[in-house]
Amino acid sequence: MDRRNFFKIVSTVSAGVATSACGSKTNQLIPLLVSDKEIVPGEEQWHASVCTECGAGCGTLVRVMAGERVVDHAGKPFRERIACVKKIEGNPDDAVSGGRLCARGHAALQGIYNPDRVRGPMMRTGAEFKSVSWDAAIAAVAEKLSKAQGKILCFSRPEQSARAQSLSAFLSALGAPPARSSGFDSFALEQKAAQMVLGWHAIPVYDIAAAHYVLSIGADFLGGWISPVYYARQFGHMRQGRPDIRGRLIQAESRMSITAASADEWLPVRPGAEPQLAVALMRILLDGKLARQVDALPTETRQSVESADLTALVQATGIPEKTLRRVARELGESESAVVMAGASTIHSNSLDALVAAHYLNLMVGGSVKPGGEIPASEGNGSQALQQARIVFLDGENPVYTSNASLADKDLIVSFSGFIDDSSAFADVILPDHHSLESESAVVSPITQTVAASEQFVQPLYNTRVLGQTLSDLAAKMNVPFAAKNIKEFAAAPPVAQTKAAATPLQVRAAQSAGAPEQFPFEFQPYLSLQYHDGRAANLPWMQELPDPASSAMWDLPVEIDPKTAAKQNIANGDHVRVTSIKGSFEAFAYVNPAALPGVISMPIGQGHTHYGRYASGRGVNPLSILSPTWEEATGVMVTGGTRVRLERLGEGKGELIQFSPVDREQGPWGRS
Ligand code: SF4
Repeated sequence: MDRRNFFKIVSTVSAGVATSACGSKTNQLIPLLVSDKEIVPGEEQWHASVCTECGAGCGTLVRVMAGERVVDHAGKPFRERIACVKKIEGNPDDAVSGGRLCARGHAALQGIYNPDRVRGPMMRTGAEFKSVSWDAAIAAVAEKLSKAQGKILCFSRPEQSARAQSLSAFLSALGAPPARSSGFDSFALEQKAAQMVLGWHAIPVYDIAAAHYVLSIGADFLGGWISPVYYARQFGHMRQGRPDIRGRLIQAESRMSITAASADEWLPVRPGAEPQLAVALMRILLDGKLARQVDALPTETRQSVESADLTALVQATGIPEKTLRRVARELGESESAVVMAGASTIHSNSLDALVAAHYLNLMVGGSVKPGGEIPASEGNGSQALQQARIVFLDGENPVYTSNASLADKDLIVSFSGFIDDSSAFADVILPDHHSLESESAVVSPITQTVAASEQFVQPLYNTRVLGQTLSDLAAKMNVPFAAKNIKEFAAAPPVAQTKAAATPLQVRAAQSAGAPEQFPFEFQPYLSLQYHDGRAANLPWMQELPDPASSAMWDLPVEIDPKTAAKQNIANGDHVRVTSIKGSFEAFAYVNPAALPGVISMPIGQGHTHYGRYASGRGVNPLSILSPTWEEATGVMVTGGTRVRLERLGEGKGELIQFSPVDREQGPWGRS
């Protein structure tokens, strides 16, 4: 039997089956395939599972073999045989991953065997955490929850899963609002814009594999946007999967992201000028009668485009009019064009950009369909936190991602498996199993299929699956609650809602905090390929992976354009200070030949105060100096609305480790 067929058999038997959200197939979940005692040394087992490192829901195959661990028995160390996860790969039968994974998906292995995992329930005693029994921890939390007066706020990763539904039922039983996300995975803006223009409350999914010409406005779809694995496969097909057609990609973004670097052409739009770019293209298409489906535009939208000031729009984008006219003509002439609408950097006017890009896509007849729905929080996260007295932390790290203050809360309970920047404030930690140690069922936001997985290795430590912890708490408090059954969820997963809406076109200017005279640069923190929003920084493989822009390892530098660097005598590796109205940090410089003048970028991921031995105290967190502003329609944090100034502090002494210290195209920029 060849390896591929072996995968197919085990993936079906072990029940990691992708099934349609409309229920055309039913999953069959069976108990633990091979117990620790029965596993045969030297023989491998492959089990279908789902990656939970981000919300994309890539289907995986997990290789399990016999391994060992050392256990303490009556004070003496004993070696015990266990079933161990040895490798994670993409599942070829999965509609999202198609047999591929991103680097973080492969490195998830280092989460389960990470030496810094929380190994059992813990309670705070003064400044320290002390191990306690589950009974004692549950009793203490139940007692405090029963007595506590005031609002409960839960931070949890936004996903459609059996686990999330259990948490939601528990919060509802306590009279608490739904969990909110503090990270960047809710794609609330993308869902809101799709609802406003297309009538879907769902993630829009673009068929770029079949397109001849793709214009992506603000969607770093090969980086951290929605599902890089799915879109990388689509992109590969668009470029090389058809014998006589090579699709063309134009990327409009204010940073040379990995998508821009892979594109045929990069349109370096000024930060926050994406709405102006989309409307300028619409206006040129209308004026030149180039749009294939001009009737798809609502009359009011068409009128507002026709009355828009093209010269002002073009000027705002920073892109020559000639280039925009050519791109508009190519869009209009292409047999199969698609315009993708994304907000990889969030500005106060990003919703305008997404709405305009959707209308542009309608005009050129671009193929887009509704994917799954990702639960999005409503309202301003910082207000909700201020009002809360009790905070639950479930895999989210609001102290790191949104500068949240947890210092004055009455009770903080963490379900996390690691002590990160937020869990460090917890009163009690009730650690969940690692996702590879639990059964799970997750709906993909791309395909609306559900990937389900049985438990196939035993938990390493004294952790508990979240559903059981919540059941125990509810029982102690006498609150009616039942954890979501995985089989029931897999049989009837939630389906995205559709609601019709009519939306006017708006083109507002992006707001930035900080006077340009004092803070002359726009600041753009962005999701890094290695660490995403910082959550993968505790995985040593990710620390060792060279950053795609700077090739830095074990640290992340500030990216500065060559002209600014030359003016301030800054060279690669020099120490610089970046200051906003909110604060400042010191970091190493990387003179990025592709950076826009006047725009300073920095990948997110380092700068954790707490997150285990590999991440703690390493580098700086660029989110820490953001002015706390929130997009008004969705309440998501604005990441691109802060201006900064830059100072050189001194020459670097080789502290910045770069895989390739000399850029291939290095020119005469920076200090010579
Ligand atoms: S994109 Fe990467 S991290 Fe996200 S689910 Fe897929 S493999 Fe996992």
